[in-house]
Amino acid sequence: MKNTVVIVGAGLSGLIAAQKLAKLGIRTIVLEQGEDVGGRMATCRIGGGLADYGCQFFTARSPEFIALVEKWRNAGMVFVWSHGWSDGSLKRTLPDGHPRYAVRGGMQALVQYLARDVDDIRTGFNIQRISLRGDHWLLEPEMGEPMVAYHLLLTPPAPVSLRLLDAGGVTLSDEDRTALARIQYIPSLTAMFVVDGAVNLPEPGAIQRKDEDFAWIADNYSKGISSRHVVTLQANGRYSQQHFDDDEASIIATFTDVLKPYLAKGAAVQEVQLVRWRYALPVVTSPESYLKAQDVPPLYFAGDAFGGRGRVEGAVLSGLAAARALGQR
Ligand SMILES: Cc1cc2nc3c(=O)[nH]c(=O)nc-3n(C[C@H](O)[C@H](O)[C@H](O)COP(=O)(O)OP(=O)(O)OC[C@H]3O[C@@H](n4cnc5c(N)ncnc54)[C@H](O)[C@@H]3O)c2cc1C
Repeated sequence: MKNTVVIVGAGLSGLIAAQKLAKLGIRTIVLEQGEDVGGRMATCRIGGGLADYGCQFFTARSPEFIALVEKWRNAGMVFVWSHGWSDGSLKRTLPDGHPRYAVRGGMQALVQYLARDVDDIRTGFNIQRISLRGDHWLLEPEMGEPMVAYHLLLTPPAPVSLRLLDAGGVTLSDEDRTALARIQYIPSLTAMFVVDGAVNLPEPGAIQRKDEDFAWIADNYSKGISSRHVVTLQANGRYSQQHFDDDEASIIATFTDVLKPYLAKGAAVQEVQLVRWRYALPVVTSPESYLKAQDVPPLYFAGDAFGGRGRVEGAVLSGLAAARALGQR
């Protein structure tokens, strides 16, 4: 146990770190509150179709990530969905040169693919509290036995990790606490609509309007992951913040009105599901690609809020950087 790295979170950063550590010959245990791996790379079955309801696509800009994405493409996991999006007006969309990647079988499938290289993933392990016990950490789940960790990597959104440490009475250095407390996320209200009939969205099946309340509308059928039309509609951060706690019926009614102009004649909504992501995208990030806490037994923080890039690329590069640092110990 003393040489094992315990990783909290089976999202992209946690599992890429676990995969890297496995390659370095280091044993890991990954603890995840959910019933499956994926985190914000989230895909679900709905109405007989499939929908991505967290991350929608990703880009690759750094040489390291571009090389990794190429590997995933060669493995048949990832494909280029588009080179740019329509804003929904009649203006022609000009490709901007950056491929937007998506995952065959939905975004979650990429994390499931990484999980194949990781031996010990324990799902349903919902940590409530992390405390310091001499030379090790104690992680207490909602149900079941606590877990001891001599080397700990935390990958939940930073406000969640801080809450778990606060609940266990852990005192971090002022510098570390300040760096973590600075990190901020915007929420996302996301709805999935199962549509009986056709959906009129421009090729390749999505509209992005960054400055408008309803910033993203995409058809998972046109995306190529669903056997029937399931539309994912996401409000931007500002709108999601303002309406985060509104009652479900009123949110769904507003979202349905936004969707209506995109339904073909005779098409109707069969089923709707709303998801409230409290921590969707980091807007204030840490410039360091991971954080190692000072003056305590090995405790590292990684995830999309580290390294200044945010998003999928940031999560992957942060997980890899933290794994390399842990590997050197
Ligand atoms: C609505 C939405 C849209 C997005 N769109 C895009 C996009 O188009 N392009 C893009 O690049 N990125 C997008 N993103 C962001 C992208 O999904 C994330 O940057 C990336 O998936 C983050 O990975 P991560 O491993 O850092 O965090 P996460 O995926 O959040 O992983 C953290 C894991 O920790 C687990 N966890 C948390 N608390 C506990 C606990 N107490 N006990 C045990 N486990 C715990 C969580 O369940 C989760 O699995 C979007 C995200 C959302 C939500």
